[in-house]
Amino acid sequence: MGITKEYSNNEITIVWKPEMCIHSTKCWKGLPSVFRPKEKPWMHPNEAPSQQIMDQISQCPSGALSYYLNNQKPDNHE
Ligand code: SF4
Repeated sequence: MGITKEYSNNEITIVWKPEMCIHSTKCWKGLPSVFRPKEKPWMHPNEAPSQQIMDQISQCPSGALSYYLNNQKPDNHE
């Protein structure tokens, strides 16, 4: 359901569901090099190590952000 946007670097893909985002600002205050809400596209997954991005994603309070490893792409997208 809803819109899903994906942003990849060469290792991981960030998945963002805008309808679930509660704009807590946590992601872009935590990792402003990657999450830039004033730009389009607003995510820049090449601007930080993938591990740092994954750590930040795990702190998203709404579940709007998730990720998968590019070599483990899930095939059961909702
Ligand atoms: S941390 Fe999650 S809920 Fe907060 S602004 Fe980022 S995507 Fe939205």
